[in-house]
Amino acid sequence: MKILRTRIEVKEALAPIRKEGKTIGLVPTMGALHAGHLSLVEKSKSYSDITISSIYVNPTQFNNPKDLEKYPRPIEKDLKLLEENGVDFVFLPDDGEMYPRETRLKFDFADLEKVLEGEFRPGHFNGVGIVVSKLFHIIQPDHSYFGQKDLQQVAVIKRLVNDLSFDLEVVTVDTMREQDGLAMSSRNIRLDDRDRLVATILYRCLTFAKDELLAGKDWFETKDKVTKRFLDEPKARLEYFELVKADTMEKVATITPGETFAICTAAFIKEVRLIDNLLIID
Ligand code: AMP
Repeated sequence: MKILRTRIEVKEALAPIRKEGKTIGLVPTMGALHAGHLSLVEKSKSYSDITISSIYVNPTQFNNPKDLEKYPRPIEKDLKLLEENGVDFVFLPDDGEMYPRETRLKFDFADLEKVLEGEFRPGHFNGVGIVVSKLFHIIQPDHSYFGQKDLQQVAVIKRLVNDLSFDLEVVTVDTMREQDGLAMSSRNIRLDDRDRLVATILYRCLTFAKDELLAGKDWFETKDKVTKRFLDEPKARLEYFELVKADTMEKVATITPGETFAICTAAFIKEVRLIDNLLIID
């Protein structure tokens, strides 16, 4: 596995591979890797000829400076994991490489950024759009892999690729969960044992709500029950719990056959903010 730290190193390393006609798969990450990230790597290895993973904690997508400061950065462990999992290249830039000059361009993802994460993390998707565009330009992958765990991010990136004609395919990978249902996340390591148990409330409420919906129950009544469950748990604070169309993130109150919906949630477990979602295909 080769570590590339600059755009020039990337260009030199990937040019001969492209010349051979091999496809390049990109797995963008912010590090603190877990089995969820590795499932993206596995998908890339089965679908693309060469896999390059990036590790970069992108400051412009953090709307909360404390969250950025506390973001875990176990780089040696990450590199070992990527090597063990057969990644060919790691792109490991520093801030100077990614933002050599101030980036003033702003994306407007319209309806997609007015709800859920967009509503509660102003500027977040602009930062995601900027860094992912930079990665796409630097690496020029044929395929790029993203987790369904960040469903709204997938929708944003698909819009980015479509509207700016990036010549690549976005591949979505299912959410990897712990045995008790908690979605794997780099932020989970900030939870102590007790809070880790409390954190299962997200998945428990998602599965409860999905069952209610599929049984034909009223969405607002279900949402009230979920809100109450959170109020009964002093260490958890619900930020949102919404039923949306999975492609546009438009909030809805009913599901209709032939379309894919998702229940999306974000909640704080003490000061750690977690998100999760479940797809509903009726
Ligand atoms: P992050 O390092 O949190 O920016 O995540 C990098 C990529 O891994 C994103 O595409 C995430 O959606 C994906 N990812 C994070 N957690 C999981 C998970 N539990 N299962 C599958 N993919 C995930």
